[in-house]
Amino acid sequence: MTNFGTCVFQNVREMNLSDRSYDLLRKSMEGAIFDSSNSKDLKHALEKQIEFLSKQEVNTKLRAEIQELESTDSFAVSNAICSLLKKGVYGIIGISDASALSTIQSYSNTFKVPFISLSMTQNSSNHGQFQLFIRPVFINGLLDVIIHYGWERILYVYDTDEGLIRLQQLFQAVNARERTIDIDVKRVNNTETCYQELKLFHQRNEKANLRIFLDIPTDKAQTVIVRLKNDTTVANHKFHFLLGDLLEPALVLDSVSLLKRALEKLNAKNGNKKLNNIHNMKCTDSQFVSMNNGSFMMETLKGLVIDGLTGRVNFDENGFRDDFQIQLVEITMNMGLASVGSWKRKDGLHTHEPERRRDEPEQKNKTRIVTSILDAPYMMYKDEETKKRQPRCGKENFIGFCPDLAKKIASIVNINYDICVVKDLKYGERLDNDTWNGIIGELTRDETDLAIAPITITSERERVVDFTKPFMSLGISIMIRKTAVKKASVFSFMDPLSYEIWMCILFAYIGVSVVLFLVSRFSPTEWHVEEGTSISNDFTISNSLWYSLGAFMQQGCDISPRSVSGRIVGSVWWFFTLIIISSYTANLAAFLTVERMLTPIESAEDLAKQTEIQYGILDSGSTKAFFQQSKFPVHERMWAYMQSASPSVFVGDNKEGIKKVRNENYAFLIESTTNEYINMRKPCNTMKVGPNLDSKGYGIATPIGSDLRDGLTLAVLKLREGGDLEEMRKNWWERKSECPVKENNNDGGQAELTLENVAGIFYILVAGLALSVIMAFLEFMYKSKVDSQRSKKSFGSVIRCKARLSFRGSLDRDTPAPTTPLRKSMSTYTYTGPSHVAGTDGFPDNLHTQV
Ligand code: ASP
Repeated sequence: MTNFGTCVFQNVREMNLSDRSYDLLRKSMEGAIFDSSNSKDLKHALEKQIEFLSKQEVNTKLRAEIQELESTDSFAVSNAICSLLKKGVYGIIGISDASALSTIQSYSNTFKVPFISLSMTQNSSNHGQFQLFIRPVFINGLLDVIIHYGWERILYVYDTDEGLIRLQQLFQAVNARERTIDIDVKRVNNTETCYQELKLFHQRNEKANLRIFLDIPTDKAQTVIVRLKNDTTVANHKFHFLLGDLLEPALVLDSVSLLKRALEKLNAKNGNKKLNNIHNMKCTDSQFVSMNNGSFMMETLKGLVIDGLTGRVNFDENGFRDDFQIQLVEITMNMGLASVGSWKRKDGLHTHEPERRRDEPEQKNKTRIVTSILDAPYMMYKDEETKKRQPRCGKENFIGFCPDLAKKIASIVNINYDICVVKDLKYGERLDNDTWNGIIGELTRDETDLAIAPITITSERERVVDFTKPFMSLGISIMIRKTAVKKASVFSFMDPLSYEIWMCILFAYIGVSVVLFLVSRFSPTEWHVEEGTSISNDFTISNSLWYSLGAFMQQGCDISPRSVSGRIVGSVWWFFTLIIISSYTANLAAFLTVERMLTPIESAEDLAKQTEIQYGILDSGSTKAFFQQSKFPVHERMWAYMQSASPSVFVGDNKEGIKKVRNENYAFLIESTTNEYINMRKPCNTMKVGPNLDSKGYGIATPIGSDLRDGLTLAVLKLREGGDLEEMRKNWWERKSECPVKENNNDGGQAELTLENVAGIFYILVAGLALSVIMAFLEFMYKSKVDSQRSKKSFGSVIRCKARLSFRGSLDRDTPAPTTPLRKSMSTYTYTGPSHVAGTDGFPDNLHTQV
């Protein structure tokens, strides 16, 4: 048996009352006793037949006396039998469960009234003379089937005492054949507990195949099986059921047919004279009066052979069904129903190849329906005219990646096919009642044979449909509208390093200069005696700044540290400079030549932490399921936002989402393949940003257990290995591109630098020059002021004198010498103490600093 196999072990061929013709019965009567719990169908069957016979009436009428009672109440049973006997019945059809059987036996034997039991026989030896058991005992057949399928462990689920008796019989049969079969047993009360028990069984045996004998009425079994099939938390291909319920109304009809035939024979024996049954037999009479012809009726019934609704009906000497045959029918969810064998009490089980299967040759020529979805470039109407007509099916109406793929696949798998658009235009999501919509829904409901569409393989979907290996890889990505291209700024040369780095460099420069100044101050080697009287240190604060700047600009300067500490500072600063300048240079070219996009969003994190740009997803599909189920905090936050956003940020299809991206301040989370395609379509104003959020694949989907599944997987692999899939992708993506390559490719080309790019540096140069002139002027004025005060001359004459000096470049004879000496060294410290250098450490004792 294949997936989700249900094996119906049945002997009911058909049940259609109106098809059956019955001979007339003379005035005769049957009694019937039905258990109130299941009487409705049986009563209905009996009444239908009586009605049918009445229509055919010529001489006499057949009448049924029906008693409904609680079959476990033996007092009620005896009352019912007595009241039937009083009315002079010729036979009784009824239920005889364990508690009532002995009562029934004693009455029917005493009054010689045949009792045809619809119930299971309790055991094979303890039977009365006037009872017939029309229900076949098929426990050996059941065991044969279990052995045939090689089931070593089964779960026996039953809901009545009769089921318990059957279970006992099964145990006995297993022992008698010296077999070992593990039988777990579960009694259930209703379909709900049955369903829950089976789910529990499934949970406990995750890995094993589950073999179950469902000994409950067929309609209930159907309810349970359908619920399990639709339950996505259940791997339903693991379930294998064996059903063995017999339809009781059919047994009623066959019982009536039997009685009718027996009565005919009785009539014939009596020369068609009016039957003279004894009426008013009283159970309380001290002298029992048995039914006239009772023994004849019983003998006749036992000797009859009829082909009834429940197959051949005849009895052995013990009153059990003798020569009956049971059909073994196999039902698989996706392959339909097939008779696979039959069982006879004497011959045992005979199996044969299934009569009808989906994969049989005549099925091969059948046209398979391929479902897809209208989404560019996977599937589109072939022209404007078709688009207006909007046909749902017809492979000639569509173009795109999927129709191309379907064509190739069909030629490999060798099937006829037609393409249809999914009815509700959705990919498929699981609904609250555990059913699916969209393409997945059509597959689970067997409305289509396969789906060739951009349908994502997910674990949740894999439980309800079969997927081939992926034919395309992708991930969820972000689509946004392209924003204005960043204007090249005059300060573009600053771009290679971030603002923070520039600030850090500035502080590092100041820090290094200060440290250099301090260490030089405390280092004796930096001090040197100048002209015998003054000692000097080159590393004043301004000289330190100048030195650091010279190093940073890679120019160097006249002074250089002599102390070890100063040299250490210098070395690390050179090294720092080396790295920073190299990095800056490396980045500069790229930054100045590329016009960069202003992308406010560069990842899902960016989306999650802002509120200005709305973002959303398809309202039914794997992307939605991804966010619903993700435990990653950023995705959880995004999902919470999307759910609460008003107006809704969910869109019905990709087209709507793309339109929103183009026209509104909206980012769309769309699968990367579609994203890339759209970015190459006019008006070329969308772009994919950031890395994908996940990685997955599209697969061809089929209903579970489809005969096509293996062939399709092989075909996909073949197309992948042969490069056909890549070629098709290129054909529909790259070759159909409508946007210039540069626009959808952000790395730009080798454009040359323009003045615009470097103008800033010229501005700085000019500003620096201007500043230096202003500084020189201020310095000039300041010195003139100081000199005029020292020499007690007018400020104007000093300025004139200085200006002359500046212009001529040398002193005149009549020009007074400046009172401040021209400096020789960069910084002079005048020693005003004794004329020797004091102290053993070489430091002067008393320093007056003049800068
Ligand atoms: N391809 C997806 C799906 O199979 C559609 C989506 O959710 O983006 O449902």
